[in-house]
Amino acid sequence: MKFVILLIAVLLLLWMLFGRSRRGDRAGPPPRGTPPAAQTEGMVACAHCGVHLPRSEAVHAGALSYCSPAHREAGPRSGGP
Ligand SMILES: [Zn+2]
Repeated sequence: MKFVILLIAVLLLLWMLFGRSRRGDRAGPPPRGTPPAAQTEGMVACAHCGVHLPRSEAVHAGALSYCSPAHREAGPRSGGP
């Protein structure tokens, strides 16, 4: 009788471990990998005021990016700290 209970306990433990590891492998990587990389790749800093904004929303002038057309016309700030 003791042996049967022990066997059931061991089987339960193995089943729990299997279920957990399977779940962890599947659910782990996708949410971690994609969002941070996409966010950091798309960010640019305004050459005039230094504010960070998504690359798609920035105003581009040559190699420089600005947060708005007004700052593009003002040009890159020089001599600031
Ligand atoms: Zn700006």
